[in-house]
Amino acid sequence: MKPARCRICIAAFLLTVATAYSRQTPVPLAEKIKRYAPSSLSCDPTRLSPGDRKALGKLIEAAGLMDSIYLRQAWSGNIRLLRELEADTSAAGVEKLRYFRLNMSPWSNLDGDAPFIDGVPARRPAGANYYPEDMTKEEFKSWAATLSPAERNRATGFYDIVIRKSDGKLATRSYAKEYAPYLKRAAGLLRDAARLTDNASLKKFLNARADAFGTNNYYASDVAWMDLDSPIEPTIGPYEVYLDNLFNYKAAFEAFITLRNEEETKKLSVFSAHLQEIENALPIDRSYRNPKLGALSPIRVVDEVAVGGESKAGVQTAAYNLPNDERVTAAKGSKRVLLKNVQEAKFRTILVPIASVAVDPSQQKLVSFEPFFTHILAHELMHGLGPHTITVNGKKTTVRESMNELGSALEEAKADISGLFALQFLIDHSIVPKSMERPMYATYLAGMFRSVRFGTNEAHGKGCALQFNYLADQGGFVYNTTARTYAVDFSKIRAAVEKLTSEIMTIQAEGSYEKAKQLLTSYGIIRPEMQSVLDKLSAIPVDIAPEFPRIN
Ligand code: ZN
Repeated sequence: MKPARCRICIAAFLLTVATAYSRQTPVPLAEKIKRYAPSSLSCDPTRLSPGDRKALGKLIEAAGLMDSIYLRQAWSGNIRLLRELEADTSAAGVEKLRYFRLNMSPWSNLDGDAPFIDGVPARRPAGANYYPEDMTKEEFKSWAATLSPAERNRATGFYDIVIRKSDGKLATRSYAKEYAPYLKRAAGLLRDAARLTDNASLKKFLNARADAFGTNNYYASDVAWMDLDSPIEPTIGPYEVYLDNLFNYKAAFEAFITLRNEEETKKLSVFSAHLQEIENALPIDRSYRNPKLGALSPIRVVDEVAVGGESKAGVQTAAYNLPNDERVTAAKGSKRVLLKNVQEAKFRTILVPIASVAVDPSQQKLVSFEPFFTHILAHELMHGLGPHTITVNGKKTTVRESMNELGSALEEAKADISGLFALQFLIDHSIVPKSMERPMYATYLAGMFRSVRFGTNEAHGKGCALQFNYLADQGGFVYNTTARTYAVDFSKIRAAVEKLTSEIMTIQAEGSYEKAKQLLTSYGIIRPEMQSVLDKLSAIPVDIAPEFPRIN
């Protein structure tokens, strides 16, 4: 079973950051730390019931235990090193500890995992601490081939580590056993929180997840997580497999303790009510439109109040799509969670400074958070619209299959550009206020620079370069050669957006790999004008170091 890599769009793009920075010359630790700008996260816990307020305190405490487990998963030497760093009170020591905490390991996420502390391995161990460090892929494979189906599932599954026994042979050991001291305490806290909350779906999830920590069987609790309908929306447990660079089998512990954002949840349901109308108005041949949209995967908009484990390490997640277990997604689908206050902090800390450099001064004041976040919502919803199942040469297939490696870049560009198309539609039909129109385009322009800042090797950067160049060629974006800034031409942008939406969706509907290749080759690049603007952005932070609000 190969788990899908499911951390969605925004986080996937951020991985590019690491690759881009690894190409630069080494910088002093203080400079490295500065790339994470301290940024406070806002949220409003006052709407919670008294019981939920108390439950929240327990969940924040449980999130802290995910740190203890993740640190042990990331590297066998992590805890010893952390103790050493904590004992070193020199200025240099304090700095190292600060950067260690930002990365949760001695390898720098923004520098392609280069070590920043002397004496640690030059490379992050590929298998992290999930496998014996001396085990090769070949040894694992020949061992796994001898196992019973049930044992092989454990060896290649999410929730068991692989150890070497005293006789030199490999064996599995469950997370429940390996991390028992922490999981027992975490389970106790989840059960306390379950007793305190008055929300039935939350109670059910917390009890099920507490059981899973002991039984090592996560299925029922993943299902209960999909059914959560609660003012507190916790995600806690073993989830993503990125840390396992050997096989992508093993899940790292993490936590996002979040509160449902009621305002955005309402906005989302308003938009969702109009999706079929938007589909019917898509600028593509009628036969390519879907006359009856199916149910879309649920989207939750939340504010983060605490993170733990892997969520703390490196670039901060702004959205995720879980669970990864295909047995659960086959039965229940998956859920997208958008972290609004994280997006807001990144907007304030990174996008506003970018706009002040890249966007024409007359349009800078239009760049604002509401249109930024509304466009993210539209982007997520638009992934569900447009062509998916298609017919090519009389054969039923999917866009994903026809597009091969170009699929992600094209699909991300589609969601972005048709997100603008959809919002324009909602503005025209007075569902979104007209006052959003100009800010929406100006904010989108500024956002382009954030997305292509780290190159076009990855789907998001490439998809953004495609949009940027296409819209510029259509006159929607105008370059000022003297000031090296861009501005939106409001008389042309709308038609340009419609034309590109049409072009991308038609290519997807036709399943034409060749046309997709042509479009991405001619537009998915950074041209000199854009580069001259990007060159001015080097001092702007890369990500945030979140500062959480005090709760209780
Ligand atoms: Zn996306």
